[in-house]
Amino acid sequence: MAVKTLLNKKRLWLPAIFILFGWALYQWAWPFWLNQLTEREAERIRVITPTFVAEPTLNRLNPDRLLADLSWLAAAERQGRAPGTPGGIAARLWIAEQFAEIGLTAAGTDGYLHPYSVAEHFSWRRWLRGASSTIPGVDNAANVIGLLPGTEANLKPLVITAHYDHLGMHGDDIYFGADDNASGVAAMLELARYLTAHPLRHPVLFIALDSEEKGLQGAVALFRTGLLQPADLAFNINIDMLSRDTHQLLYAVGTYHHPWLLPLVEQLQTRSAVKLLPAHDRPWYLAGNTADWTLSSDHGVFHQQQVPFMYFGVADHPDYHSPRDTADKVDLAFYHQVVETVLHFLLILDQQLAVQIE
Ligand SMILES: [Zn+2]
Repeated sequence: MAVKTLLNKKRLWLPAIFILFGWALYQWAWPFWLNQLTEREAERIRVITPTFVAEPTLNRLNPDRLLADLSWLAAAERQGRAPGTPGGIAARLWIAEQFAEIGLTAAGTDGYLHPYSVAEHFSWRRWLRGASSTIPGVDNAANVIGLLPGTEANLKPLVITAHYDHLGMHGDDIYFGADDNASGVAAMLELARYLTAHPLRHPVLFIALDSEEKGLQGAVALFRTGLLQPADLAFNINIDMLSRDTHQLLYAVGTYHHPWLLPLVEQLQTRSAVKLLPAHDRPWYLAGNTADWTLSSDHGVFHQQQVPFMYFGVADHPDYHSPRDTADKVDLAFYHQVVETVLHFLLILDQQLAVQIE
């Protein structure tokens, strides 16, 4: 009996010691290591952030059309645009219609559409995190792809991506996904309208991606199906969540991986009415608790395929991935200037990349 009690106690003590040790390690690491990394990252961001002088607002794009397109995508009828659902399919066909009206060339495998399906599959990363070990499959998903030719024949295309899917319905709740990411798709349409009238030197591929919310599967499908070859692409600009921020900040993510982009962000800041922060792209062992967004949206897939990228987006807000992410929360003056900023980045990048090739 006495031996048995001792064994039981041992079973309790081992995990207790383990937990205590882990807690002590964290207590030690936070002030001396983790916190220093976080502070160093904050200081690094402060130093490299271009000085913000409020610029007069730009007016090349139409804010009313931006809001109208966003509102159409985020309407209750679209039921949160989950891949393969009636609302998701309606959104996809509508985007293809807009591409046709704008005059983009169909560049999918079925007109503008690039249909794909993904079977449910095992994920080591998910398994290690202890949640469900499989990534859900999708039936009847499709990306929407339009091409705008450039003025110079020898240049590879810039790829603008924005995912149009969102979380759909959960019970009676509609996850409208106004900021995430009706805002990016509406921005893409307005950029396409402007660039059709004012073509760049590079061709531009406009890609509205499906099933981003299910593990970036739409972007993965572009390469898995062989539709895109990484070596044939010049650059990826991903836009995901552009329309609201309490602090009126826009993150420019990617300068850590591609330091040559930093002078471009500085140049961009001199013509932008929103404050830009080049951040959220360094791994945890360099940045501490400052989140790394390198793989957190579709640009991550382009990055893994060695295509240089820049991601523009706002910080997560309390309505992120909730039924409260609705069109009436959009800050139109901010959103408009964010899209103008993305447009200006495209103009700068177009010149810069063409010069690098010359
Ligand atoms: Zn998103």
